[in-house]
Amino acid sequence: MHLEEETGAGPGARERFVADGTKRPGGYVGRFAPSPSGPLHAGSLVAAMASWLDARAHRGRWLLRIEDLDEPRNVPGAAEDILATLERFGFVADGPVVWQSRRHGAYRDAFDRLKSAGHVYGCACTRREIALALARAGVRTDRHAEPVYPGTCREGLPPGRSPRAWRARVDARPVRWIDHHDGIERIESLPQSCGDFVLLRADGIWAYQLAVVVDDGAAGVTNVVRGADLASSTARQVRLQEWLDLPGPRYLHVPVVVGGDGEKLSKQNGARALDGRAPIDELARAAAHLGLGVIDAAGIGRFWELATERWAERVRRPAPSPRSAAPDRAP
Ligand SMILES: [Zn+2]
Repeated sequence: MHLEEETGAGPGARERFVADGTKRPGGYVGRFAPSPSGPLHAGSLVAAMASWLDARAHRGRWLLRIEDLDEPRNVPGAAEDILATLERFGFVADGPVVWQSRRHGAYRDAFDRLKSAGHVYGCACTRREIALALARAGVRTDRHAEPVYPGTCREGLPPGRSPRAWRARVDARPVRWIDHHDGIERIESLPQSCGDFVLLRADGIWAYQLAVVVDDGAAGVTNVVRGADLASSTARQVRLQEWLDLPGPRYLHVPVVVGGDGEKLSKQNGARALDGRAPIDELARAAAHLGLGVIDAAGIGRFWELATERWAERVRRPAPSPRSAAPDRAP
């Protein structure tokens, strides 16, 4: 992380901001993008804090996006609750909140461009058919991983079938990206890690990967700081950025908070909503998780000053060697 390179947010930085993502904006633009599937909990606070501190340490802008495309998973009132909680904890967005549910046209345009360029094909497979095809091929899928699509419909639909979902046709060209958490370059082969991935789901919902890339591009996001659970999405997003001629942001994945069962903290393993009556305690816990040590502040304003100073010190240091980064990394 090079502070000098990316600061550039002097007077006029906002004016130079280009909303269509076709030009690199002058300054740092970060974002936090929660899904309204429940209230904020300790895990989502860590992700929000990391993105906010990195933006503040770079004197950049920080944007908020509500990822509410997956309607069946949206909890009524959760988005409003998340926004109110963030405000109570002292987060202030540098722009209007973006709601993915209001951006179908942008996703459709990007999808059509990808389709015209030959990157998209229709897939008739049901989940069960994919599982059967993989089982027949002797491929075993880890419980946590999405199955690697076996390519059944790649060369055309089987006779008498019509498309349910639409997939991106990946190629063997490796995707390279650096995780600035440890400075290590990842080199990934999409045919191996996920296969042809879904862009438009069988239920008619735009896939997360497509929406994120379109939205980050439209907002001119330069730096994506998020939980390590999303690192496995990055290669797909980088490839989509290439296809859509969007500039690639820098990525930094912070360790996720785990629940009692050793898995990422979620409603299912005991995450509770944040205690809005004790914001300082909640903030201090999140900062400690991010390796910022004990921050003893009397008020929220002072907490953010101290936390931002500590984060900025870290930004100024050269990237840690893989060995020294190890204890800090997510399992
Ligand atoms: Zn198929």
